[in-house]
Amino acid sequence: MTKKADFGLSSLSMIDYRSDTVTQPTPMMREAMMQAKIGDDVFGEDPSINELESLCASLFGMESALFCPSGTMSNQIAIKCHTQPGDEVICDVLSHIYLYEGGGIAANAGSSVRLLQGDRGRITAPMVKDAINPDDIHKPRTSLVSLENTANRGGGSCYNFNDIQSIREVCNNNGLGLHLDGARLFNALVEKKETTQQYGAIFDSISICLSKGLGAPVGSVLIGKTNFIKKAKRVRKLFGGGMRQAGFLAAAGIYALKHHVERLAEDHMHARLIEASLIKKDFVGTILPVETNILIFEVKGRYTAPMLSAILKEKGILAIAISPTQIRFVLHLDVSASQVQQTIDLIESL
Ligand SMILES: *Cc1c(COP(=O)(O)O)cnc(C)c1O
Repeated sequence: MTKKADFGLSSLSMIDYRSDTVTQPTPMMREAMMQAKIGDDVFGEDPSINELESLCASLFGMESALFCPSGTMSNQIAIKCHTQPGDEVICDVLSHIYLYEGGGIAANAGSSVRLLQGDRGRITAPMVKDAINPDDIHKPRTSLVSLENTANRGGGSCYNFNDIQSIREVCNNNGLGLHLDGARLFNALVEKKETTQQYGAIFDSISICLSKGLGAPVGSVLIGKTNFIKKAKRVRKLFGGGMRQAGFLAAAGIYALKHHVERLAEDHMHARLIEASLIKKDFVGTILPVETNILIFEVKGRYTAPMLSAILKEKGILAIAISPTQIRFVLHLDVSASQVQQTIDLIESL
């Protein structure tokens, strides 16, 4: 069997904590991709994509699913399907859909956004209730609430399921749709011992990423009711996201869902080990509570975040300074236990 080093990648000598999107498909995943049965998915004839979509729908106990090229597209399709131009979307101020999707809510859906100051990316039912506009012709029509679990900019924080249930009630009482940006939902599920079925029963639509911690090279899946996904398929075409023989990618996704979910717990443990070594250092300020595979810490004293990031890089460790005072480490399946130990040894020497 081919080893990772044989793929000839220059960054492999580095330990890469920049994102969980940097993973390389494992040899077994590559094998699954090579064996994939493929067809033209715009004609609905790619067996691997059809299999991935039914697998996701049944996993979540939802009716239907749609394979998308990216999490951004899958979120944007969902937002466009849930809203009319001039409507308003409620979300946390740190949401990926607001911060990191190029202004897509305005550009693609023509919708306005109501930003809430949540706790590390998580909002609550009373906050949502207060943000709903009255039925008044002056006001944008509130039509959608979008949650993110885990919350990326919140340092991988997880919702309590009870809080989501309370938000669902507010949505029901006010006729609002509820979307989940679940780019890292599986990290939350593994950590909180929750199930896909629970989430499928409570959200109108869910977007999951195959290309984050799950380790597939490309792809996201949007999951929802039959009619919603039918509409979503039209919007995916409009956005240029109808792919042809993309079953090679779907096969990687199927492999990831079957083999890479439980192992996420390892990434969480690794994040906590690194956190424990950082706590002791005088140049480390506040560390956002580590709940899953993301570790965000404040740099103070003799280093700025960009300085520390440069020092780490010289020693073979890549980590992004996400602000002048904060560094982010993201754990994933291409960081081994021995690389985590190497990282800890280095931190202790600084
Ligand atoms: C990465 C990410 C996405 C989607 O990202 P793509 O790079 O477009 O696949 C969406 N939401 C969150 C929270 C993310 O971290």
